[in-house]
Amino acid sequence: MNPEQALDRLTQCGVVPANRLIIALTRHCNLTCNHCWLTSGPNSSLKHVDATLLKKTLSLWVDAGVQTLCLSGGEPLTHPRWQEILTHCAQFPSIHHLRLQTNGTLLTPKIVNGLTNPVFANLHLQVSLDGAQPATHDLVRGKGNFAKTMNGLQLLSDAGLGPRTTVSFTEMAHNFEELPLLFPMMAELDIGHVVSGTLIQGGRALARALDLPSPKQYANLIERFSHDAQLRAVYKKIGNTSCLEWYASRRETSEHHCANCMESPYISEEGTLFPCGLLSVTNYGIEGVWNCSVASVAQKAEVRWAGLNALSRQRADNIQGCMACTGRLHCQGGCMARLARQTDNFLAVEDRCRLRKQVYALPALPNL
Ligand code: SF4
Ligand code: SF4
Repeated sequence: MNPEQALDRLTQCGVVPANRLIIALTRHCNLTCNHCWLTSGPNSSLKHVDATLLKKTLSLWVDAGVQTLCLSGGEPLTHPRWQEILTHCAQFPSIHHLRLQTNGTLLTPKIVNGLTNPVFANLHLQVSLDGAQPATHDLVRGKGNFAKTMNGLQLLSDAGLGPRTTVSFTEMAHNFEELPLLFPMMAELDIGHVVSGTLIQGGRALARALDLPSPKQYANLIERFSHDAQLRAVYKKIGNTSCLEWYASRRETSEHHCANCMESPYISEEGTLFPCGLLSVTNYGIEGVWNCSVASVAQKAEVRWAGLNALSRQRADNIQGCMACTGRLHCQGGCMARLARQTDNFLAVEDRCRLRKQVYALPALPNL
């Protein structure tokens, strides 16, 4: 079978062709966050990806139909040639959305001014912020980093890039109650979106024993949202947080399955391709993809990924713990990739199960 036939076969198995590529420029980072599941840091043994190889690989994926590129890390701004790589990505006419993920601490007036160049008209920034005040953010990201990230956000806002900036918040037990403060703070800065995702219990987060929010914290946020019209208004404009979205759609049947594998693949700094950023576990990695055609990569992926679609669909009907759950049709057993970080048993519930159950158990609330 030739590579093109392999790509066709993969598609026939329900794998959606790549549309959004996430690629790590480096695993190096200027910070050493306590919750970093990639265990990135300033360690000089963490190499940057060769810029020439990276640009060639990006071109191959864009030629194969990718329309969104997301440059990730580690911290991409520690790569000595990140601006050249970003410019390369911005010049593809078919790329509608180019995203740069950063912790925001290395943004300077000169850098931000450069990002306002018309060549970057399709550029969006994603900045991590894990609290609405220094104590909360710095507890995981290190002393002084709240001020540095807020300074970066202020620079983006002053340069008119606020609407093209997404603030990404990692939900943990110690910071979850600051979400209602964060939405108006970011709206004030004209930030376009605030999205939150629950802590991934991997890498350094395991070693530091950080906790997910509690079911009670989820219930409190939903109840607060029910009676706080101002919060609802600002959330509607810029917010997206899983507990509120789950509550809003809890009576619906989810169409989400990991059938979407390869729609949004991830290439690590080592040149290993994974079906998505979260499913970056060894069993599903295709090594050595730098400068390889997408069809030839698909030929290798077929062996590893073809069964994922069916497995994802089976989970909703076969996890014993889910049978009597009122949220089964909405949750479908949760995220398979989160589960894969904890166990090889795909017929188990994911780590946010108790949070989801709390959301499904809440009564109908006014205004929601
Ligand atoms: S979480 Fe992000 S900013 Fe923090 S160490 Fe990891 S890559 Fe760096
Ligand atoms: S909330 Fe838990 S028990 Fe209910 S469907 Fe989701 S994973 Fe299964």
